[in-house]
Amino acid sequence: MITIAIANQKGGVGKTTSAINIATALAATGKRVLLIDLDPQGNASTGLGISHAQRDKSSYDVLIGNATLADAVVATEVPGLDIVPATVDLSGAEVELVDFDARTHRLDTALNNAAITWDVTLIDCPPSLGLLTINAMIASDALFVPLQCEFFALEGLSQLLTTVERIRARFNPGLSILGVALTMYDRRNRLTDQVSADVRAVLGRVVFDTVIPRNVRLSEAPSHGMPALIYDHRCSGSQAYIALAREMIARLPGLAGGTAAAA
Ligand code: ADP
Ligand code: MG
Repeated sequence: MITIAIANQKGGVGKTTSAINIATALAATGKRVLLIDLDPQGNASTGLGISHAQRDKSSYDVLIGNATLADAVVATEVPGLDIVPATVDLSGAEVELVDFDARTHRLDTALNNAAITWDVTLIDCPPSLGLLTINAMIASDALFVPLQCEFFALEGLSQLLTTVERIRARFNPGLSILGVALTMYDRRNRLTDQVSADVRAVLGRVVFDTVIPRNVRLSEAPSHGMPALIYDHRCSGSQAYIALAREMIARLPGLAGGTAAAA
């Protein structure tokens, strides 16, 4: 079992879109996948068609200790993909947890004590480096960072990497950077080529070869409560997420065993 946090403190860079579609692509290869929605906005939950009635127990309850992970898990329409949904309650968790013991390790403990296990757990983080994202980083083996192809793409990355260094030094020495993926790439815009070249020059091989294009199907799918990979599996965005998932599997030797997608 491997746990991957999808993090970037900037909003709107493609964290949730990546979380939903990578989770779906991994589930399609036969992995048992859990997606933990750790953003109070609950976009991953909504994008996977989880109703409010199905959010009776949520990631908030898991962090606060009102529910175990197994209590809060909901099966999605995607075979092999479960989710721990989020509700707006989560926006108060950062403050409420201040009085709790080991407030940085709530999610880690919940995952370690889970009665069910999955092959891969993805955590969709909120757009901040606060206590929720710190819980995710401490609970994770690896970090996946979506970076939007725009002029200021690298801005803020050093702050993210400094946080990773602190987490490694104090709590989780094994936290690795699985990779950085460029998102919302626009072929018609020459600036994005320049951004992509700059990012690769600075970050090197940590950047995935696969680039996620700007694709309207990716942004339409959530309003239908389904992953783009199911809404329109042929669109350029879906195909890119399939390729990206394959690259991720190749970087995770523990996960590659016996799957068609790794070939
Ligand atoms: P984050 O979780 O980092 O805030 P989202 O994944 O929610 O980012 O993406 C922000 C917005 O951009 C959403 O409306 C989403 O549908 C849209 N979006 C994300 N990736 C793409 C893409 N590759 N092409 C077009 N729209 C995208
Ligand atoms: Mg999001």
